[in-house]
Amino acid sequence: MIENFEELKQICNGCTKCGLCETRTNVVFGVGSPNAEVMFIGEGPGENEDLQGEPFVGRGGQLLDKMLDCIDLTREKNIYIANMVKCRPPKNRDPAPDEQEACIGYLRNQVYLIKPKIIVCLGRIAALKIIDPNFKVTKQHGSWIVKNGVHMMGTFHPAALLRNPHNKPEAFEDFLKLRDKIHEICDHTY
Ligand code: SF4
Repeated sequence: MIENFEELKQICNGCTKCGLCETRTNVVFGVGSPNAEVMFIGEGPGENEDLQGEPFVGRGGQLLDKMLDCIDLTREKNIYIANMVKCRPPKNRDPAPDEQEACIGYLRNQVYLIKPKIIVCLGRIAALKIIDPNFKVTKQHGSWIVKNGVHMMGTFHPAALLRNPHNKPEAFEDFLKLRDKIHEICDHTY
């Protein structure tokens, strides 16, 4: 494991471990506080994220920011947001298993350095990899499990909420559960 956050970021920014390096504009390492107690994990960058080098900055990202704001979380202050793969899969396809495998070490290293108390997986792909290989978002969203001492929850991906807005109330309830969990186990998020 790399012990320094900036060093890890620099290594990741120059990474050529999988084929996604050939089509990326920017590596999307992550954003937020390295001291965050709450970490959000998505699957991979989309077009806007690739262009700007920051996760969740398109319409889905704007929705995520609004939902975060409702429970007093902001990417500038008290959370960290990262993706499972750091380079955009062409045409926004799901990251392939070999690409996930090539990249997951960076995310593991981020988790190792940040040491979050809570991880929220945004969408099916992240929840499958991190929480449960059979995870079903529609059935299991909002449920907490504890793995290696970290409280984990999966919820809807913001882009999926834009496609299926009828799921927004359930997603918002998940965020309220997150707020309760933060009050219960976190020291300095609020
Ligand atoms: S997706 Fe990950 S493993 Fe592949 S080139 Fe980008 S940083 Fe490296």
